Amino acid sequence: MATTISTSAAAESAARAGTSVWDLQIGWQHHAACKGPQSELFFAPNHLERKEDRLERESAAKAICRSCPVLVQCREYALTVREPHGIWGGLNEYERRQLRARRAG
Ligand code: SF4
Repeated sequence: MATTISTSAAAESAARAGTSVWDLQIGWQHHAACKGPQSELFFAPNHLERKEDRLERESAAKAICRSCPVLVQCREYALTVREPHGIWGGLNEYERRQLRARRAG
């Protein structure tokens, strides 16, 4: 999960999230609500997934995100590193692309 991001991008995202660069990059992961066996909900399986199954899986993952104490940090991290897969910060890949586009405005 840990990926290094550039200092300037990290500083900008940290300011947006109201946190430090270190916490944006690494610290928040210690408080993630998705740690443990439920982490498989956050990424597509290796086999073909039906649309209904994907929607159900993503809904369950997003429900966990809604109670996560580091949702903002996680979302900013995923947006900054352009995380291409999975649910991060309560958003799937498509929703993150939409948010990046709105912010780029
Ligand atoms: S916001 Fe969601 S994906 Fe991010 S750490 Fe929390 S539970 Fe995991």
